[in-house]
Amino acid sequence: MNILDRYHAMDYGPAPEARNEADAWLAARDFGKALFIGGDWKAASGGKTFETSEPSSGKLLAKVSDANAADIDAAVAAATKALPKWSASSCYQRAKVLYAIGRAMQRHQRLFAVLETIDNGKPIRESRDIDVPLAIRHFIHHAGWAQALDRDFPGQKGVGVVGQIIPWNFPLLMLAWKIAPALAAGCTVVLKPAEFTPLTAILFAEICERAGVPKGVVNIVQGGPEAGAAIVNHPGIQKIAFTGSSEVGKIIRKATAGSGKKLSLELGGKSAFIVFEDADLDSAVEGLVDGIWFNQGQVCCAGSRLLVQEGIAEALIAKVKTRMSRLRVGSPLDKNTDIGPLVDLTQLDRVKGLVAEGARQGAICWQPDAALPSSGYYHLPTLATGVSPANILAQEEVFGPVLATMTFRNTEEAIELANNTRYGLAASVWSENVNLALHVAPQLKAGVVWVNGTNMFDAACGFGGYRESGFGREGGREGMFEYLSAKLPLGPVIKPATLSAQPAEQSDGDAIDRTAKLFIGGKQVRPDGNYSLAIATAKGKLAGEVGLGSRKDIRDAVSAARACKGWPEATAYNRSQVLYYLAENLSGRAGEFAARLTELTGASAKAARDEVDQSIERLFLYAGLADKFEGRVHQPPARTVTLALHEPVGVVGIVAPDTSPLLGLISLVAPALAMGNTVVAVPSERHPLLATDLYQVIEYSDVPAGAINIVTGRSAELASVLAKHDDVDGLWVFADADTCAKAEAESIGNLKRVWSGNGRGLDWASDEAAGDAFLRRAVEVKNVWVPYGD
Ligand code: NAD
Repeated sequence: MNILDRYHAMDYGPAPEARNEADAWLAARDFGKALFIGGDWKAASGGKTFETSEPSSGKLLAKVSDANAADIDAAVAAATKALPKWSASSCYQRAKVLYAIGRAMQRHQRLFAVLETIDNGKPIRESRDIDVPLAIRHFIHHAGWAQALDRDFPGQKGVGVVGQIIPWNFPLLMLAWKIAPALAAGCTVVLKPAEFTPLTAILFAEICERAGVPKGVVNIVQGGPEAGAAIVNHPGIQKIAFTGSSEVGKIIRKATAGSGKKLSLELGGKSAFIVFEDADLDSAVEGLVDGIWFNQGQVCCAGSRLLVQEGIAEALIAKVKTRMSRLRVGSPLDKNTDIGPLVDLTQLDRVKGLVAEGARQGAICWQPDAALPSSGYYHLPTLATGVSPANILAQEEVFGPVLATMTFRNTEEAIELANNTRYGLAASVWSENVNLALHVAPQLKAGVVWVNGTNMFDAACGFGGYRESGFGREGGREGMFEYLSAKLPLGPVIKPATLSAQPAEQSDGDAIDRTAKLFIGGKQVRPDGNYSLAIATAKGKLAGEVGLGSRKDIRDAVSAARACKGWPEATAYNRSQVLYYLAENLSGRAGEFAARLTELTGASAKAARDEVDQSIERLFLYAGLADKFEGRVHQPPARTVTLALHEPVGVVGIVAPDTSPLLGLISLVAPALAMGNTVVAVPSERHPLLATDLYQVIEYSDVPAGAINIVTGRSAELASVLAKHDDVDGLWVFADADTCAKAEAESIGNLKRVWSGNGRGLDWASDEAAGDAFLRRAVEVKNVWVPYGD
């Protein structure tokens, strides 16, 4: 045997991490009093407990207090009591507390890592080198945001008491992602860990005690869905931050509809791992190990779909199989282990079931020839080839160590396959050609794109999804906004439209009666139902008629908006010029629009002229900002730059208010357009003739067909159609409270981003009804990680 043979024949000896400190901690604690409320340790008021056990053996670790609605009430009361003092404390004081938490965690880093591994089953290498250091970094990074709050977020203040619900796959890291920005923003929190993994949150609460976090600022309640639902529905909570499955995310979206609670959802994924033929294949294989076998694949952004260019598929698959054969499956406390057990038997059964179904649907599922430990919830790493795009393994989040493989011929096909999912959390692109990678990244519908890398995270870089992977970002500047609210100038309460307000059947003037059509795909079209709506002047006479838009018209308008590529793909400078031109052309007809406003709303000549002038000014503002509201570059502590790009949300539905019918409409449509969205606008139900007059201006302002579509009719009905339409990406509704609540509840099909006024309008004439608060809603932030160096 030569040296090389000996080297290959060498096996790893056992390298177990010591667990005595963790065991001592477990033995010393009273888990029957595990609710950390108002700085005290309490038993669940119902006396119930739940069990948490060790995934590598099934052995019971602890029986932990199981909170019920009364306990959540107590936690919210404690957070509410602590709020005034905490939110009024200086930025420096809050920064010191966050820093103290980070430092105290550092001192107990190993205990956190061992406990996390014992409770969750993840390899100690991962909890020790990734989860815990990243969680600490989160607190220390956010100490800085706490201090920079007044400087970097002027006019914003913390939203109040926040309810936070997290999953079991990264228990401590998800806790850090939630608690650090909330505290930095001056909020107080009630956080519920997942019932499989309560332990590190209990240790974290002890850290809060030691780090001098004021009582009631952080409350940690243990429990399951019942406790989670009590948090979601609690009226004393102003914001819900949830990480978990898309299924529960949808339940929460529906439950919070109409409540006015701010909401962020970090949900599941089915992320593409795209390997082009010029990629460094060995690096790509190592990337895959991180992408899909990190944490046994129980990672929301796991690269669970390998898309490989045809010419290199065979070579890459062969390398992947060789590498899989060397993955070490075993005790998670062993420092050499690559793959530990899944978190629970139910999860193991679920993964097995999905693999069996994938195979039944035609996938070839390959596993290395390795022995599994005799006890524990282990699953071998699995490679599925011959996977059709419709196969369950290509579509469903498995949340286990299972990789589904598909091939593509060219770049377009790779992008199409990558985007062929209802999710949109992450993607990774492998190519030695940075031009190609940066050409592909913006075309992927995903919140994070890693170039020649995968599963990179940092506190300075936002993380979060597109589509059904949820909305909102965690980390970085954009993550801070999730816990802040800007003071928008509130307008009047909007009353539901009354169908009885019909005009008398006579016209005010002797102009030829005209029925304004809908404006879809750059053309004036008749409503599908061939009904019209009579519109009254301020004096109750007939001003004209508009088309009564229906479900079919909205569908056509959404198709036209989706088909319009000229606008989202135009340069920001180009969009800016078109918006300037629109403003210019509106200004040429200002007198006419002012007269129309007076006729329809009864506004004085001066007020009407002011509204038109302000509308022109607003178009000018957004024309100017179209190429200014840009993304950023982050420099995380790694050899990479992270480009936080601002991308349009997509097709945005806009339901405009009756007050200031021209200015309100333009205040909403202009920022959406400025950022490259295409729009389906439902103008004021009472005064739609201003919008139909406006499309005459749009027609000769070089706006590409389909960029703006206008459907007149009953606002409540059309808002509902937009909310249910799965090809609408965002919906802004300024209507009565019921219509707003319904739009939020009905948006769950594709989890579109809904911005509702909750039954209130804005004071559209105020300068505060414009600017960044609007532009932020008009973009998704995509973080593209680009490594450098050899
Ligand atoms: P889950 O949705 O079942 O549970 C998540 C949390 O919600 C748990 O704390 C649970 O107790 C609670 N919960 C369950 N039902 C509830 C209800 N009706 N109301 C309120 N709370 C409720 O998810 P899970 O199985 O624990 O975690 C896995 C999922 O989390 C995966 O889909 C994964 O992709 C996702 N995840 C997403 C991210 C991200 O950042 N996008 C990160 C980690 C995990």
